[in-house]
Amino acid sequence: MSTSDSNEVSTHFSIEFFPPRTDEGREKLLAVHDRLAALGPEFFSVTYGAGGSTREGTRQIVLALKERGSKVAPHLSFGGSSDQEVGELLRSYQQAGIDRLVVLRGDLPSGYGSSQHRYASELVSFVRRETGDHFHIDVACYPEIHPAAKDYRTDIDYFRIKVDAGADSAITQYFYNPDAYFYFLDQCAGAGIRIPVVPGIMPITNYEKLARFSANCGAEIPRWIQRRLEGYGDDTESLRSFGIDVVTSLCEKLLAGGAPGLHFYAMNQAGSVSTIWQNLDLSNR
Ligand SMILES: Cc1cc2nc3c(=O)[nH]c(=O)nc-3n(C[C@H](O)[C@H](O)[C@H](O)COP(=O)(O)OP(=O)(O)OC[C@H]3O[C@@H](n4cnc5c(N)ncnc54)[C@H](O)[C@@H]3O)c2cc1C
Repeated sequence: MSTSDSNEVSTHFSIEFFPPRTDEGREKLLAVHDRLAALGPEFFSVTYGAGGSTREGTRQIVLALKERGSKVAPHLSFGGSSDQEVGELLRSYQQAGIDRLVVLRGDLPSGYGSSQHRYASELVSFVRRETGDHFHIDVACYPEIHPAAKDYRTDIDYFRIKVDAGADSAITQYFYNPDAYFYFLDQCAGAGIRIPVVPGIMPITNYEKLARFSANCGAEIPRWIQRRLEGYGDDTESLRSFGIDVVTSLCEKLLAGGAPGLHFYAMNQAGSVSTIWQNLDLSNR
């Protein structure tokens, strides 16, 4: 197993990026990385585009961040790729000294058809078959339940199948209601899921984007937050400041309640994550 397994009782703080599409985006992301790396996160993760569309983009930025001295966990899904392609990618990560992955089903672009979906549990099994215990494997889970899940209970049962297939820890979809997370943990414990479940944290910087994204991924924005954000209109400074207060307070509640860490969806921006991180004094925890 990977080294992080020995630290299960301590808290881990990590940061997620997506692969930039342009040279300019890449330069900007490297600067954002350097600023956030100074905070001392446990690792950075880099998302994997729908259907494998960013396979090479993800790999390039993962290697670039590793070269800059960070521990990096690439996200990985089958998407439309063959076993052979995914196997080659795994071996290239191994050779580069990568030892952690975030393993997902991913969301396929329209046109692929749902029959092409291969569940994350299949990929966890595949990674274990191909590479044994080399990688620490994170998987995704959903305190407010995956939008396509048949029902609450079934989603937890499928989560347990991913864990039984060999996941070491999980990162949640973002949420703004801490009760949803703590209730979910109780349900997971009842289903025999014992791995650390780290809350995914989405800073609030743009109401329209957040509302659109939340509608797609099934994350609820509580009405009081929604109404307040709507009221800021073009006043982005006040919106950002309110967002920082809300998310800092959410993180405080999660950590006080025993969350084993926090995973920040940075959206390739340093500002809000850095401020929330400092508000919580995470570098000294
Ligand atoms: C931390 C995190 C990181 C993410 N990173 C990315 C990324 O890099 N790229 C990307 O494209 N997306 C990413 N996503 C989004 C994610 O890919 C989508 O939410 C996707 O729809 C589900 O992925 P999953 O790995 O949870 O799928 P799965 O665990 O396979 O579950 C998907 C759905 O199928 C159901 N299910 C699971 N197993 C079975 C089964 N055997 N039979 C029937 N139904 C089943 C589940 O209940 C669920 O509804 C991320 C999400 C999170 C929370």
